Amino acid sequence: MINIITKAEETHKLTKEEIITLLESSEFEKDLFEAADRTRNKYVGDEVHLRGLIEFSNICKQNCLYCGLRRDNKKVNRYRLEVEEILRLAHNASLLGYKTIVLQSGEDAYYNVEILEKIIKGIHDLGVAITLSIGERSEEEYKKFREAGADRFLVRIETTDVELYHKLNPGMDFDNRVECLKNLRKYNYEVGTGCMVGLPGQTLQSLAEDILFFKEIGADMIGIGPFIPNPDTPLREEKGGEFIMALKVMAITRLLLPDINLPATTAMEALNPNGRFIALQSGANVIMPNVSEGEYREFYQLYPGKPIPTVAADTYRQNLANRLSGIGRYISDEAGTSKAHIRKNA
Ligand code: SAH
Ligand code: SF4
Repeated sequence: MINIITKAEETHKLTKEEIITLLESSEFEKDLFEAADRTRNKYVGDEVHLRGLIEFSNICKQNCLYCGLRRDNKKVNRYRLEVEEILRLAHNASLLGYKTIVLQSGEDAYYNVEILEKIIKGIHDLGVAITLSIGERSEEEYKKFREAGADRFLVRIETTDVELYHKLNPGMDFDNRVECLKNLRKYNYEVGTGCMVGLPGQTLQSLAEDILFFKEIGADMIGIGPFIPNPDTPLREEKGGEFIMALKVMAITRLLLPDINLPATTAMEALNPNGRFIALQSGANVIMPNVSEGEYREFYQLYPGKPIPTVAADTYRQNLANRLSGIGRYISDEAGTSKAHIRKNA
């Protein structure tokens, strides 16, 4: 076991069987997390990149079985932010020092190319980087968003188990999702993908394949979090993912893709009050604090237990800086372009 961890740390390559062995065993977990932490330090350093997250619409035309925003969930108070409000939030975040804004939403066609161009250009003019997380769009749209100034795009593959994917995402097509990732690469976005850990029916074998998929497509950023059952979805009775397993998938991902950006996801925090800090010490180097305001914030519920800070955004940031310095880390004052992306463009 320890040999596998050493091999991963030295060569950044593992076979599927070796990954499964690591995932299966609860021995040497500490060694795995420490190896991932060393690799993070060696390749991307001690700086932590903050991304200001704006959840600008919870309206979604898709019906993913796991997600609280799915169109059949009638219990959601739906909202959409206007362009001016999004730009105002982005402006405030940039004043606080955020160098990247992440715009996330359901798949909401109201935001057509024209509207999104306005938003992207407006944020671009603030001098910050822009990440989109708005789901699947046509190649042409991805091209236009890029031209308008979008730098990065997140679209998780969710699971590489094709049969499971189609079961969980009715009306969606796995091949199209992969095609989206290819199109994003074509227009030279920093490409982010990722998966949920602990989906009903998901095997360790398929989790190992997820990690190898991240490597195969040459992702620049990977978001990994536990699946958390949402009481307002068809998966309400399911067991949900385990914190440690999600952490292991994250740590192995860091070992195999050493220079990517890897967020300590909010879902990790939902399962463990210290989850994001543990993740930051097991391979992660990014945090995405929410910079939205207003009561609609609590209506963006992909899963229950989402931590909502009770302090103002500036205090939150200062507290975070203090806590980070306690673990020998600091908030980066740069845009935090993925080093994997820079390497590929060199
Ligand atoms: N609509 C866009 C972006 C918003 S959803 C999209 O689907 O790409 C962002 C991510 O939330 C999804 O990719 C999924 O991995 C995660 N998510 C949704 N429901 C979840 C749940 N119940 N538990 C954990 N993560 C969830
Ligand atoms: Fe919509 Fe994304 Fe939720 Fe699926 S995961 S229902 S696409 S918001």
